[in-house]
Amino acid sequence: MTFDALSRDRIETLHAEAEQAYRTLGEAGLTLDLTRGKPSPAQLDLSAGLLSLPGTDFRAADGTDTRNYGGLTGLTELREIFAELLGIPVAQLLAADNASLALMHDTLTFAMLHGTPDSPAPWGAAPVKFICPAPGYDRHFALTEHLGIEMLVVDMLDDGPDLDQVRALVGDPAVKGIWLVPTYANPTGAVVSHEKAAALAALETAAPDFRIYWDNAYAVHHLTDERTTTAEIVGLCASAGNPNRPLVFASTSKITFAGSGVSFLGGSPETIAWYLRHVAFRTIGPDKVNQLRHARFLQDAEGVHRLMDGHRAVLAPKFEATLQILAERLGPHDVATWTRPRGGYFVSLDVPDGTATRVVALAKAAGISLTPAGASFPYGRDPRDRNIRIAPSFPSMTDLTAAMDGLATCVLLAATAQALE
Ligand code: PLP
Repeated sequence: MTFDALSRDRIETLHAEAEQAYRTLGEAGLTLDLTRGKPSPAQLDLSAGLLSLPGTDFRAADGTDTRNYGGLTGLTELREIFAELLGIPVAQLLAADNASLALMHDTLTFAMLHGTPDSPAPWGAAPVKFICPAPGYDRHFALTEHLGIEMLVVDMLDDGPDLDQVRALVGDPAVKGIWLVPTYANPTGAVVSHEKAAALAALETAAPDFRIYWDNAYAVHHLTDERTTTAEIVGLCASAGNPNRPLVFASTSKITFAGSGVSFLGGSPETIAWYLRHVAFRTIGPDKVNQLRHARFLQDAEGVHRLMDGHRAVLAPKFEATLQILAERLGPHDVATWTRPRGGYFVSLDVPDGTATRVVALAKAAGISLTPAGASFPYGRDPRDRNIRIAPSFPSMTDLTAAMDGLATCVLLAATAQALE
């Protein structure tokens, strides 16, 4: 991924062209944002029906008055829908409040303070390490660091983490877990294969309380007509004799309303009982009115798929435009590689080693905000300084194409400048 095949004269010409394009970009006075994977207003409008639910009929199917306290497990009718989508028995899936990130925070904190059902002592009693496939989700890494857990990086490949690297780490009893986004991973779009999931379920680990933090945030977020299925980690771990190993997270944040959705936690019966025991000190129950309106609005698993088809109709053209601009502007020069996700919210762009920070700075100076270089790596450190996460969902098509074109200009400017150094 360099200009090796080109003469210096040719690189100088390309550089001059990129400089000119960059000047024009600066003169356009843009203010564009490709940072966070937020749904666009058009996507939020798909769930407008939620705003008038549940109306005055506030009783759940079992007669529960959803307005009142209680019901720590969440409403059964909503759990049933997501149990089917996530491949987890209803009794082993809880519905909670609006953010799965909060469930990840809580379960890690409970483990640090009290240990898990399999822990000889609270995790926090000794140094704790977590395996972090990268590139990965920046908020997983921020949370892990915030709780004082050391992060060990392994490569995230197209079908999941590099298992040889994982195996080399789990002989250390301080290694208590691994982060994974199994379907349409943030930011690469990778899907963990059934084989890798089965291997992780059966992995021999020195820690008896090793956990797989299986964040299935994009389980039903397809960008093609193929409904990719996620490996059923709860069943796989149970069959492998490690029933308490997985904690499954999901939410409706990118199904209905990102700020007012419902989150889910799945795992073994023992894990669910452990969570409920601890969370009972933090809350008397979740927002059941919100859960009820979600159950009524979504209706069933097929209802969720139908809604996701609506999201796809809005999102897929944005991803296509993003990929087309990358192909047209960068493809001919062989200066970058990028992912072509079949679902999820991101495109992961790799620019020439050592230039990602420069590209992000150039874009910022031209009014285009990008996620900081390195954000997808533990401690914000991309060892090759090459990865940039692109989030095409939120901007309008016009803004997105302007931002992507500008980004391509910045990549070419940084790459040619480096080649001429
Ligand atoms: N997990 C992943 C992989 C994400 O990309 C995101 C949001 O971008 C979240 C979790 C956040 O989920 P929630 O809104 O349920 O906290």
